[in-house]
Amino acid sequence: MARMNTPRAVLTLVLLMGAMVVSGVAAAATAPRNVIILFADGIGTAHVEIARLYNRHIHNAGLTITDVIMRQGSLGLMTSHPVEAIATDSAAAGSAMFTGIKTTIGTISMTPDGKPARTVAEAARAAGKRVGIVTTATVYDASPAAFSVHAKSRRDTQAIVDQYLTLGLDVILGGGRDFFLPTGTGEGNRKDGKDLIAAFRGQGYSYAATLPELKAATAKKLLGLFAWGGMAFEIDRDPAVEPSIRDMTEAALRTLAQDSPNGFVVLLETENTDTAAHRNDIAALVHAVREFDAAVKIAYDFYSRAPNETLLIVTSDHETGGLTVTYAQTEMTTSGSKRFYAAPEHLKLVSGITVSLDKARDILGKKPDPAALDALVRKHFPGFTLDADLREAILGQKMLERNCTYPTQCALGRMVARQTGIYWGTSGHSAQPVFVAAVGPGSDRFQGYMDNTEFGKALLGLLDAR
Ligand SMILES: [Zn+2]
Repeated sequence: MARMNTPRAVLTLVLLMGAMVVSGVAAAATAPRNVIILFADGIGTAHVEIARLYNRHIHNAGLTITDVIMRQGSLGLMTSHPVEAIATDSAAAGSAMFTGIKTTIGTISMTPDGKPARTVAEAARAAGKRVGIVTTATVYDASPAAFSVHAKSRRDTQAIVDQYLTLGLDVILGGGRDFFLPTGTGEGNRKDGKDLIAAFRGQGYSYAATLPELKAATAKKLLGLFAWGGMAFEIDRDPAVEPSIRDMTEAALRTLAQDSPNGFVVLLETENTDTAAHRNDIAALVHAVREFDAAVKIAYDFYSRAPNETLLIVTSDHETGGLTVTYAQTEMTTSGSKRFYAAPEHLKLVSGITVSLDKARDILGKKPDPAALDALVRKHFPGFTLDADLREAILGQKMLERNCTYPTQCALGRMVARQTGIYWGTSGHSAQPVFVAAVGPGSDRFQGYMDNTEFGKALLGLLDAR
């Protein structure tokens, strides 16, 4: 061992200890009692801006995310890349955000060499806090799973659900009833013959399968499964059956706030935004962001009642779709062609769309009929014209290009893009950094340019500071 310069070593040690004490004190002073994370999967700044402009021009209304949370709170930009790539999936991104550790695509909160990494849900439990996960996806989907438990693959669905029961999450709301019930029961998919809904009930949970049942639930612990798979797009949702992210946020906060001496931590996710962006579906996206914003408003009202108690974070895991509102040439083949600006009248066109592109695909079926296609455009996309090349792509079920995965949805999405100037670059994820906006105690740790592992470390640091 090299001989140390003793006075300098002592000085370094003293400085280090001082820094630890100061940061410990600072963390304890800012440690929030409650943490509410509102998480819109797959949204970048363009997705939020389009919803803000849509609200302004179509509804003469604001957007809580931008007008309140971003303006009043801390604002940061967060990178999303996993270990082995530049663009990520939700599993690796969620794992980084909820464990502080960078991992590989498809992995749920485990290190690249296969060791469990402590999650925010586990840290919250250790701090005596109540914990909830809420999503419009299946409850075992990548983001809520990475927030809570561990799996070598995001496809280890049954094991993820089993770990939820062991961890004893206080609130679980979303889709994905299929992996709570055995094969042979409805659309049950469990291979071990177990009824996990009965198991949760046995541990004192209220169970809800519809919006009215969710509203009536009063137990301290709540399991709500509103679809066999993922839940509907907001634009298609039947409110008599499925709650929205706003309804589920209300129920989760009401349930978690009762009898919680040490507070709670909750992840409230809309998956609608990511799925709509994968399908290049601007109308479904805007409806989803608006409903998510209503959930943000509910969370903000909760925060406002005791602003020193609750840290409220609004964020995403990665951008999906390469969404761009453009100013471009109307026709790229002719030099000097007219300029085309996306404008408020194009938002008005978007507001006339009445179904998601997935629902349009379902209506048309696998072998679309020409008359049915024309009738669908007339009825559900008023004011739009389907160009011949796009019509042909749908009728022949041909991909528009390599980066376009869903033939019907991408062609209809391109129809909307050509007439609105709102374009998509891909059916997949992009590497654009995403925003992090926060208010409340500890919010100053979520500003500037940060890696998604720094987000996770900041969150765990606040939960550990007691
Ligand atoms: Zn995605």
